[in-house]
Amino acid sequence: MGQITGMVKGDTDPVWKRRLHQKPRSKKSAPVLKLLKGFEQSQWWDPEDIEAKQFRQMSQLLAHAQRSISHYAETLGHVNPDDVESLKAGRWFDLPVLKRDTVNKLGDDLLSRTIPKSHGRLNPIYTSGTTGRPVRVVRTLFALTYWSAFTTRDHIWHNRIIKGKLASIRSSEKNFALYPKGARQIAWGSKDGVFKTGPSISLNVNTSIPDMAEWIARNEPDHIVCLPNILKRLAPYCIENGVTFPNLREVQVHGENCGELIRQQCREAWDVPLHDIYTSREIGYMALQCPKHDHYHIQSEGVYLEILDEDGRSCNPGEIGRVIVTTLQNYAMPLIRYEVGDYAERGEPCDCGRGLPVINRILGREQEILVLPTGEQRWTLLGSPDVRAFMEMAPITQYQLAHVAADRIEVRLATKRDLTANEEAKITEWVRKKLGYPFEIGFAYSDELPLTKAGKFKDFVVEFTASKA
Ligand SMILES: [Zn+2]
Repeated sequence: MGQITGMVKGDTDPVWKRRLHQKPRSKKSAPVLKLLKGFEQSQWWDPEDIEAKQFRQMSQLLAHAQRSISHYAETLGHVNPDDVESLKAGRWFDLPVLKRDTVNKLGDDLLSRTIPKSHGRLNPIYTSGTTGRPVRVVRTLFALTYWSAFTTRDHIWHNRIIKGKLASIRSSEKNFALYPKGARQIAWGSKDGVFKTGPSISLNVNTSIPDMAEWIARNEPDHIVCLPNILKRLAPYCIENGVTFPNLREVQVHGENCGELIRQQCREAWDVPLHDIYTSREIGYMALQCPKHDHYHIQSEGVYLEILDEDGRSCNPGEIGRVIVTTLQNYAMPLIRYEVGDYAERGEPCDCGRGLPVINRILGREQEILVLPTGEQRWTLLGSPDVRAFMEMAPITQYQLAHVAADRIEVRLATKRDLTANEEAKITEWVRKKLGYPFEIGFAYSDELPLTKAGKFKDFVVEFTASKA
């Protein structure tokens, strides 16, 4: 026992196994620890058993949604939620897909009237997502417990040095964690998280690449978390200039397409693996990277994830289709067959022994970069507080910022009514501040902002060719 090398069914690193069986650190962390112990079992179940449990959960969720949310009573009322077998046999796949703009339009009408008290307090979140249409989703404390558990599962799967130092380069907030100092926190996440972690340090994403490399080398983190786009520039810079990070064990990324090239560059630059996660704010974790491979395992304890072709049929391994997700644990605002806006390629079952279904790759999460007239590069990352501030300025239902000339940004909006001059002035000021440059701002209105030919939408687009001076 404990001598086995390589991952076999039921095997988790012994250090982590011991940790999972310690007493919880606090009252708050006890439910997360309990979930993690359950995950230790459920990840090794056969795919059929995993799916059977999910259909039982979806049957309950469907009944709850029909009872307490009028939208679902109208759209799903004809389905008998108790007939799990017929749901599984095909009924489920006839349920209408929930579009992002429906969630946007319905707003709080999607909130359940009878949220189980035991699911704890409510927590709203705003998302910009990949469709540029801001969505407000309300989650329960119970659903957030799953969020924490998946975060920790990712640490376990990738065997992180939990007492080590985590460097985070993912905030674009103005004046936050500026070079050369950055910022420092005593823990990786919440200080009363499920396990005691080492410290974390942060650096603003708008730091120049040479400064970023210097900061990382000086602070010697064990782990780095950032966006793939940072790595695309940081890794080649380090290779060219011989910058190494001796303590570094791995790089974690999220939020964008993560291609094979970036993985190779991480190996070449620092000889470390890259681990990606697939998550969205409104849903939470959808998939984590397998401990043994570059592909992903769907987090079936939290979501039922479908990949559908153009005709709405389930994709076979190797095929790419739309991602449709049902959140299994959020009884405040259940998302049933929700279209995330991404595309994914279904994979074959994994030889690591986990029964959790496989996604080979995720497409459609590209983020464009803003080049200021000064030549400085910036990320237009619109986080939840940004979107909230933006939406509170005017009745906006959809937005897109288009970089249409070197010094000009067009703000494209779909709104519930015409905006006043005062509202436009406020938005102008907000956009300039957010992008960090006194751009000339124009406005364009339409009922619906168009999608690209591939059916995608970006909240920031570049529509001119910068002259290379
Ligand atoms: Zn695997």
